[in-house]
Amino acid sequence: MSVKVCKFGGTSMADGNVIRNVKSIIDGDAERKFVVVSAPGKRYSDDIKVTDLLYKCHAELLSCGSCAESFAAVRARFSSIVKELGLNFDISAVLDETQARIECEQNEDFTASRGEYLSARIVAEVLGAKFVDAETVVFFKENGSLDGERSYRAIAAELSGVERAVLPGFYGKGVDGRVKTFSRGGSDISGAVVARAVNASVYENWTDVSGFLACDPRIVQSPKRIKRLSYKELRELSYMGANVLHSDSIFPVRRANIPIQIKNTFRPQDEGTAILPSSRYVPSGNLVTGIAGKKNFTVIFIEKSHMNSEVGFIRDVLSVLAAEGVSVEHIPSGIDTMSLVIDSHSLTDAKLNKIVEGIKETVAPDLIRIIDNIALIATVGHGMSSSVGTSARIFKAIADADINVKMIDQGSSEMNVITGVKNEDYEKCIRAIYAEFFNREN
Ligand code: ASP
Repeated sequence: MSVKVCKFGGTSMADGNVIRNVKSIIDGDAERKFVVVSAPGKRYSDDIKVTDLLYKCHAELLSCGSCAESFAAVRARFSSIVKELGLNFDISAVLDETQARIECEQNEDFTASRGEYLSARIVAEVLGAKFVDAETVVFFKENGSLDGERSYRAIAAELSGVERAVLPGFYGKGVDGRVKTFSRGGSDISGAVVARAVNASVYENWTDVSGFLACDPRIVQSPKRIKRLSYKELRELSYMGANVLHSDSIFPVRRANIPIQIKNTFRPQDEGTAILPSSRYVPSGNLVTGIAGKKNFTVIFIEKSHMNSEVGFIRDVLSVLAAEGVSVEHIPSGIDTMSLVIDSHSLTDAKLNKIVEGIKETVAPDLIRIIDNIALIATVGHGMSSSVGTSARIFKAIADADINVKMIDQGSSEMNVITGVKNEDYEKCIRAIYAEFFNREN
């Protein structure tokens, strides 16, 4: 029998009623055997996610030596979930133990991981399934990245012959033997790791939306839903801010060709979005699959005559940035010009000054200029590579909206055109591109 791995996000864990939905989803399909859960998310817009409460606990612990005050809010959240579910489960004993271990470990990652741990304990009770602690089966390497091979082996061994199991997402064990978390939203990665370990037929990622939308619904009203995406398109879109799924979650499943299906816990009947490996990907027929973007980039523009014939020019420029520990997102270039596009959050004024001085000293440019407050917009789609004139349509739409383009970069995969505009033109630019490709016939 094939096996499905289901990951439920924070809003699917938010209260007892939603957890009942989760149970009926799992009970509705015998192939849904392994479940990965996040910590309870927000119940209403100004509610606080349990993981954020736990980061507060850690801060309180550092400043006062105890986390009693902040942990009270965590306690209240889990106690009410257990009460709403009418479970016969001694959550207060588990919470006491958890608080004691938080105070003893004094490890931020450990504290943050307890939301997933407690969720998984409760969901295992609800489903009558085995609880498998991620600490015993998900491992990190010395450099902090996932130790995939070791984790897949451990999970496969632990789950072999098990009828149903629940695992907490977001964390595992570091080489120092202590609990370590992925970056925020990392339960998506945990789900993918489990899917890979058990060679699942599909990795179902249950969220509170019915899949990916062609662009941000806060910018365009009711954008079209994307039915199918390739892994590559997903990577481009989620890196550029479409945040339904953690952008690293495709790595574990990609090698094993396992599709990801995004589903909505609150509308399980909706089809959602399928994310497919290239071998199974059937183009949707649309030229553009989706549009995503981010604000706040800084561009360092460098001009020097005959730059192209100077051996090692780009390497020398990049070594200045590497020395400051700053990474570059894009490097569009011409014969005598190049631009370095950098995430502004990674720069302070002092760092930027040092970089500019370093570049002047190392490569003696004719001109160096800083352009701030740049937004990048990615227009993504496999269909673009085989169709003449797509870029022309993008730029005509932007020009018709009276927006000045500051930078263009077409990825070498020809499935992604990145446009840099002023921050203030960001929303208008997305609307213009969306209207061109989605409101008319593609
Ligand atoms: N609970 C963690 C977070 O808020 C991880 C997750 O939800 O995936 O980032």
